[in-house]
Amino acid sequence: MNNKEMKNLIKTARKLAKPFRVTGNNFRLKDIDPDDTLRFTSEDKPRAKEALAMGVDLLAELQDMLYAQDRWAVLLMFQAMDAAGKDGAIKHVMSGVNPQGCQVYSFKAPSPEDLDHDFLWRCIKCLPERGRIGIFNRSYYEETLVVRVHREFLENQKLPPELVTKDIWNERFQDIRSFERYLTRNGVAIRKFFLHVSNKEQKKRFLERIEEPEKNWKFSANDAKERGHWDDYMEAYEDMIQNTATKEAPWYVVPADNKWFTRVVVAAAVIEALSSLDLHYPKVSDEKLKELAKAKKALLAGK
Ligand code: ATP
Ligand code: MG
Repeated sequence: MNNKEMKNLIKTARKLAKPFRVTGNNFRLKDIDPDDTLRFTSEDKPRAKEALAMGVDLLAELQDMLYAQDRWAVLLMFQAMDAAGKDGAIKHVMSGVNPQGCQVYSFKAPSPEDLDHDFLWRCIKCLPERGRIGIFNRSYYEETLVVRVHREFLENQKLPPELVTKDIWNERFQDIRSFERYLTRNGVAIRKFFLHVSNKEQKKRFLERIEEPEKNWKFSANDAKERGHWDDYMEAYEDMIQNTATKEAPWYVVPADNKWFTRVVVAAAVIEALSSLDLHYPKVSDEKLKELAKAKKALLAGK
């Protein structure tokens, strides 16, 4: 990919991701339609796949520079209701990236050891090193989602009772905002993704998991039970995004009823993030250039 092609693709990616980026507190979930595909129709699907493939190539190049430069780290967090396509989006978008420069962590229900610490602890241990892309499949944001919808999880957290007040969710938002500002100031670029699937599409995907034998393993009766709390989850997501979307650590609320579209938007947003870092290969010193010239001469002279 030459420089001009790269620039054009970056421009297209930015334009595509922009309508879904949330940076302030005036966000309303109802403004994002899970079935939205912008101006594209399902006939554009093959073109979307091509665009994704080009995006994946570009990401690989940007990541190579990120790694070589060794200054920035990138943290991508994915949150969604079950069957929204988190795993597939991560798999497709990162498919071209050098595995050595990428770390994926999934956060499930906390272990007893996790519960003996503050809520950020287990995620802090998994933060990406400089030069790397870290992916959180679920994250500390569960602390304001599942833990908010199911109060019994909060009770399991062994917090001193006088610290658990009606302000706890706002306090968690405040702590998360501070933490993310701290990371940003240390060279960690943060992007957060909410893959927004509709209730109807989730039901369809669960039924597919039951009906298609090769998808049976993905089905969990508990996931289906969580559908009973749908409205509570949507409220929690909206409040979470309103309170934690910032300029330096934006949320992308990505329509997730059409997987091909979700993946293109996620790829575009990741390209946007990397391209905003002004990445470049490390500059080679005069001394190093001399060393290279000398080595070349020696190699050519030898066998
Ligand atoms: P998949 O189903 O594709 O494997 P998943 O992310 O849904 O991926 P599961 O093991 O099914 O993985 O679910 C993880 C569960 O852990 C989710 O129900 C999530 O809400 C729960 N969880 C994550 N963090 C916390 C937390 N801090 N407290 C309580 N539950 C949590
Ligand atoms: Mg699950």
